[in-house]
Amino acid sequence: MPTYEYVCNECEHQFEYFQSMNDDVLTVCPECKKSELKRLIGSGAGIIFKGSGFYCTDYRSDSYNNAKKQAADSKSSSTESKSKSSKKTTDKKQKTPATA
Ligand SMILES: [Zn+2]
Repeated sequence: MPTYEYVCNECEHQFEYFQSMNDDVLTVCPECKKSELKRLIGSGAGIIFKGSGFYCTDYRSDSYNNAKKQAADSKSSSTESKSKSSKKTTDKKQKTPATA
C-alpha cells in the first residue's frame, strides 16, 4: 500500500497517510477540518533528481567545455566581421552624397 503525503493549505499541517490507490483522495484536514488538503506526489521528486544529476555530469564533461569554447570563439569572430562590414557600408553611404 503506498504512502501519500498530504499538506494543508490552510494550517500547513503535513502528514503521511497509508491508503490504496482505489481509496478516495483526502480533502479535509484533520487539524483544522477544512477542505484545503493537497496530496503531494512523491515519485516526481526522484525523476527531477535523476535529471539534474545527468545535466551536472554533462556540464562538467570536456566535450561540453570544448563545444562551449568553440561557440564563444566563432561568435566573437563573426561579430567582428559583421561590425567591420557594417562600418564599410556606413563609410560608403557617407561618401555617396558628398561626391554627388
Ligand atoms: Zn489544516
